[in-house]
Amino acid sequence: MNRKPYTFGPVPSRRLGRSLGIDFVPFKTCTYDCIYCQLGRTTAKTMERKEYAPMRAVLQEVEEKLNKISPPDYITLSGSGEPTLHSGIADIIAGIKKISSIPVAVLTNGSLLWVDEVRDAVSGADLVIPSLDAGSNETFLRVNRPHGGIPFQEMVEGLSSFRKAFRGPVWLEVFITGGVTDSEDELVRIRNLTEQIAPERIQLNTAVRTPAEAYAGLVPKERMKEISGLFGGNCEVIADYTGVHDQSEFSSTREDVLDLLRLRPCSIDDILSGLGLHRNETVKYVQELMDKKLIGMEERHGKRLYSVN
Ligand code: SF4
Repeated sequence: MNRKPYTFGPVPSRRLGRSLGIDFVPFKTCTYDCIYCQLGRTTAKTMERKEYAPMRAVLQEVEEKLNKISPPDYITLSGSGEPTLHSGIADIIAGIKKISSIPVAVLTNGSLLWVDEVRDAVSGADLVIPSLDAGSNETFLRVNRPHGGIPFQEMVEGLSSFRKAFRGPVWLEVFITGGVTDSEDELVRIRNLTEQIAPERIQLNTAVRTPAEAYAGLVPKERMKEISGLFGGNCEVIADYTGVHDQSEFSSTREDVLDLLRLRPCSIDDILSGLGLHRNETVKYVQELMDKKLIGMEERHGKRLYSVN
């Protein structure tokens, strides 16, 4: 990847407060192609680990950004692909630690944690948030549409091994997909696996953002509360049904998006290039405006266009 920027935000994060995002894997380069992905379908499904972005350039940009902003609560390695695919993620974490004392979180789909070197590579982080979205191989294939080299059982064992070895907290995100993984049987299977993995926290999410596939359903708030009861005391619902953050730092960017959409209907790509935003930020702001019913979306010639209501 030879493009900048590698940083985005800080963006408001329900779990992580003000989070400075670091993105060093190209857009939709991922080991999965989740039906609920808010970034759309995966365009490069791969298990190949390599230096997708030059580490020195990433770290230089992080340092420059930190010099310009008030300290965020977390520096979060996430972005528009799977961060553990970057072969230099351990050095990126170590490099951030040298220039800042802000805690480093890794948001990963967890698909490669059964690989020894990947577990080692993220062990320098302060917080790791992996995912588990299915209780059986069958639903794993349906929901995550993984690369063929990722066996379900190995993936789950990787999560368990990582939890045992990692010195920091692991918050396991479980995405419940309405119509696919919200049956009682499937939820019990997922719950049993979370007991095996034993993370500090279990965080339940659902399709509150526009999913890659329209059939990836939203589970209503009340039902999510019931489901969290099944998972026990360390489980919380993190799905953001309102999606609106009122801090002025963020509302000014929302206003910019609204102003642009007042001029003409735009796609996500139009907005991000028009305002110089990162894709993840753009998706977030657009969803917030959709949630507030300030804008709407229509498909024209296979393209999603957003405009002011
Ligand atoms: S939700 Fe995450 S893991 Fe799934 S396809 Fe999107 S980026 Fe990859």
